[in-house]
Amino acid sequence: MTEIAVASSDATNIETRIERDGDSYIINGRKWWTSGAADPRCTLLIVMGKTDPTANTHRQQSMILVPIDTPGVTIVRDLPVFGRYDQHGHCEVVYDNVRVPAENLLGEEGGGFAMAQARLGPGRIHHCMRALGAAERALALMTTRAQERVAFGKTLAEQGAVQHQIAESRVAIEQARLLCRLAAKTIDEYGNKAAAPYVSAAKVAVPRMTLEVIDRAIQVHGGAGISDDVPLAAMYGWHRAMRIYDGPDEVHLRTIAKNELRKYANNLQNDPVSHRGLR
Ligand SMILES: Cc1cc2nc3c(=O)[nH]c(=O)nc-3n(C[C@H](O)[C@H](O)[C@H](O)COP(=O)(O)OP(=O)(O)OC[C@H]3O[C@@H](n4cnc5c(N)ncnc54)[C@H](O)[C@@H]3O)c2cc1C
Repeated sequence: MTEIAVASSDATNIETRIERDGDSYIINGRKWWTSGAADPRCTLLIVMGKTDPTANTHRQQSMILVPIDTPGVTIVRDLPVFGRYDQHGHCEVVYDNVRVPAENLLGEEGGGFAMAQARLGPGRIHHCMRALGAAERALALMTTRAQERVAFGKTLAEQGAVQHQIAESRVAIEQARLLCRLAAKTIDEYGNKAAAPYVSAAKVAVPRMTLEVIDRAIQVHGGAGISDDVPLAAMYGWHRAMRIYDGPDEVHLRTIAKNELRKYANNLQNDPVSHRGLR
């Protein structure tokens, strides 16, 4: 989806064109941050572009499958995240008169935006679950190190200040985990649309919490924490990126605020159904 030339947190800005030509579609555009495209096992790209720029705002986009070896597809570069190259890569990709069979279109013309939203909701919960795991790992590293390292005649774990760092981390992890569970439970019971404000809340809260816990773990490790001898620096970089990918914090805060404003505008604040985001 994401393009170098336009603010892609607003997916309606996307400029890549997917134009029908007989039994084919022709694709022209420049994407970046295409995750997975640098992996040698990657054979197929899913591209979102506009099939009809004159249609209603959310019906202009479509998604199409493009085999990575189609003439006109160029992987320009793999983008680093804080100087590190991920295993599967995040690539800038140019599509120059790329022709694919019309049957490669996913769903119907104009259905791309809705499809992206349907995929991203549950996908964001998975990012949050993985981030909770990373926070647990950072806390485990922090507590292990604190019990091994001696400064001023005591282990770090015996210092009250370090105990507070450990305890604050446990409090924050459990708060964020409950929010993630609430979002997941609401998806299960009421569907993606109703869960959207909770998914957004988890997507804002979980990476922030994870960054705080990793930061404390780095501090307890001293110089080792920012070296690559322990995984904390890499973990910090990745979870900082999480505040941007799959929707920057500000876009999710906008979703949460709109939901709250709608409840109060309709005087539904004491209604348990509206509290669940169902109206
Ligand atoms: C590691 C990584 C992997 C990624 N993988 C993929 C992928 O596989 N596929 C894909 O399509 N994209 C991917 N992305 C791209 C990612 O989804 C976009 O970077 C993101 O949607 C933001 O778009 P943008 O970079 O164009 O930022 P912009 O849209 O230019 O936004 C810049 C900043 O503006 C601010 N902002 C935006 N809207 C508002 C608002 N309403 N109010 C206040 N402030 C606002 C936010 O702070 C935001 O960070 C990936 C990104 C990263 C970092």
